[in-house]
Amino acid sequence: MENNDTKQPNSTPTGSRVSDNVEQELEILRRQLDNIDREIVSLLGKRQAEVERVVSLKKAHNLPVYHPAREEDLLSQRRIQGAEAELDPDYIEDLYRRILRQSRVEQTARLAQKGVRAGATVLLVGGLGSMGQYFHNWFADAGYNIRILDRHDWPNADKLCEGIELAIISVPIEVTNAVADRLGPHLPANCVLADITSIKESPLNAMLGSHEGPVVGLHPLFGPTTSTMDKQIVVVTPGRNLPACKWLIDQFSVWGSIILQVSAKEHDEVMSIVQTLRHFATFAFGQFLRRRHVDLSRTLEFSSPIYRLELGMVGRLFAQDPSLYSEIIFASPERLTLLKDFLTSLSENLAMIETGDKDVFSSEFRKIADWFGPFSEQAMRESSYLIDKLIERF
Ligand code: NAD
Repeated sequence: MENNDTKQPNSTPTGSRVSDNVEQELEILRRQLDNIDREIVSLLGKRQAEVERVVSLKKAHNLPVYHPAREEDLLSQRRIQGAEAELDPDYIEDLYRRILRQSRVEQTARLAQKGVRAGATVLLVGGLGSMGQYFHNWFADAGYNIRILDRHDWPNADKLCEGIELAIISVPIEVTNAVADRLGPHLPANCVLADITSIKESPLNAMLGSHEGPVVGLHPLFGPTTSTMDKQIVVVTPGRNLPACKWLIDQFSVWGSIILQVSAKEHDEVMSIVQTLRHFATFAFGQFLRRRHVDLSRTLEFSSPIYRLELGMVGRLFAQDPSLYSEIIFASPERLTLLKDFLTSLSENLAMIETGDKDVFSSEFRKIADWFGPFSEQAMRESSYLIDKLIERF
């Protein structure tokens, strides 16, 4: 604002003196603001230098980039300080989240080249696929030797497995178990066998059945277009001899990922909701819009930011590869059962609407609101934040 004011022409000699004085005063104030801004940037530079010292220390001790408790503590303290300085604490938190993210991204970029077991040989089974290539880059940058066993390389399996310390299976879900069965007999006894399949229980059992050494299931909850692993979740489902797999898990932490360790069974149960149900509902919604020949751009002209955000989430799905989603939705008979239950529930809701009884709807609505509990508040806060960002940008 301070730069938008213009000098008002004034015809009287006194008026022009006042205007000159105001202009001079403004000039002084602007210079002070410039000085403060320079100080802010220079302090950010100093902060960055300290961050680099932290990186060196973390690098030396294989410590993860993201330290949630430390970040939350820092944000709370800055919020209090902001309030004391009569600044909106939300504004201060917003600024600091941006600063902290930048710091993490830079730390992650520098730590990416740190191999927890640099020099070890890693076999990527399905290494020519999209996730295979993605991890090829990360492991190679961190100083690992990479070998690839893709669908035509089985005749060389023995040679490719010689001396490897880690084999990662990254093949389509429907062939994962067969690949695990086939790979096991070629592996050195102490080699870690891991997979990155989006379902966990059945591949984990297949790996445990085919290899007697250390086994761990991983599910990176991100795709190959993710440029940084900062705060990206990797689910770890222990199989056998977890301590022997620790260096692999540490490697993901060093790359900035958050590790979530759960049983394979729990992973699959939660994921059927997080992925299958959600993707199916999104698919059906997009398909319905298409079948109705809905004019998307016209609806956007009438739309509230929240509709734009929701449609963005739907449109996002269709900007990706269908096979990614078919694999997830078609992954197991349990998932089909879940989708059938969902459909039954939709039909019941339709029957409710046909009765014309709005009270039933309101009472159901209140029950769901109670069940969501405090998450509703959080959802309101987080989605309002996203909407504000969307308005700022578009
Ligand atoms: P992809 O189709 O791009 O790659 C699969 C690779 O496996 C191909 O190179 C293919 O030639 C190879 N392959 C197929 N059959 C083989 C066999 N019998 N022996 C050896 N290699 C064989 O698939 P992707 O997207 O890279 O996914 C791989 C795995 O990663 C899947 O289990 C998927 O669930 C999981 N995953 C994918 C994503 C993602 O966003 N793409 C995210 C998380 C996890």
